[in-house]
Amino acid sequence: MKNFDYNGIKVPKLGLGTWKSKDESCRKSVSEALEMGYRHIDTAQVYENEEEVGAGIQDANIPRSDIFLVTKVWRDKVGKSDLKNSVQQSLEKLKTDYVDLLLLHWPVDDVPLDEQLEALQNVQKEGLARLIGVSNYPVDLLEKVREELNVDIATNQVEYHPFLTQDKVLGYLKKHGMFLTAYSPLARGDVLENSTLKEIGLKYGLNPVQLSILWEYQQDNVVTIPKSEKVEHLKSNLEAIEKELSKEDMQKISELQSPK
Ligand code: NAP
Repeated sequence: MKNFDYNGIKVPKLGLGTWKSKDESCRKSVSEALEMGYRHIDTAQVYENEEEVGAGIQDANIPRSDIFLVTKVWRDKVGKSDLKNSVQQSLEKLKTDYVDLLLLHWPVDDVPLDEQLEALQNVQKEGLARLIGVSNYPVDLLEKVREELNVDIATNQVEYHPFLTQDKVLGYLKKHGMFLTAYSPLARGDVLENSTLKEIGLKYGLNPVQLSILWEYQQDNVVTIPKSEKVEHLKSNLEAIEKELSKEDMQKISELQSPK
């Protein structure tokens, strides 16, 4: 598994998304994923599955320090007094003392941005999060965070897949040595029916889901977190990263995003 190195902290370039994973199925898929080699798990307060993610991590019996665990603070918890409390509750549910990455889930207008970031930084200083970041931020807000408020964020988690390549956001993140975390990297399953992806995939023995994962994985400064609760999907998604796409095919997939 390749990692993205952010200031010496290794971020596995393929992770497991867990939005809509619930109950026993979530717990099982997290532990199965870890057992087969995934080392990066993405959850959020609003997914209401932190308990099950934590239980799945425990079931897998893999050293905590080998796992890159991400959670996100929901919009109503970004105020100074709420944020730390909410993170402590997340950690309790996740059955761990820290997360590797803590994100502000969405931009929020009703609490000043500097206050949200100060609360996030405080939690990081206290050791509850190794890295901090944001999600769903446009470039102008990223600029405000880094250049005006001088806050060291590692990533912006945004929707990113062969039909939506977010060139502006990725360009900004690259320029500043940060990484883009690609959410809904399979376009929530829509990549499956795309004829170009099917055709390119045939050359490599990959289905469109695997091809999309590999296309994301091979890009500099991109980390991808496809979601699956099925053991056969978890396996084939992980197997995809053993192959390598040619420059030409990488480019062809990048060009899918806008009907030309
Ligand atoms: P996604 O990963 O693009 O797609 C998930 C869908 O693809 C599921 O229905 C899954 O079904 C299916 N799938 C996975 N592997 C497959 C395979 N090999 N063959 C066929 N189908 C397959 O969608 P997503 O869940 O929206 O995004 C991924 C993660 O990003 C989320 O789970 C979450 O952690 C994160 N996210 C973050 C935000 C944010 O605001 N920051 C927003 C959305 C998502 P099965 O489970 O049946 O395999």
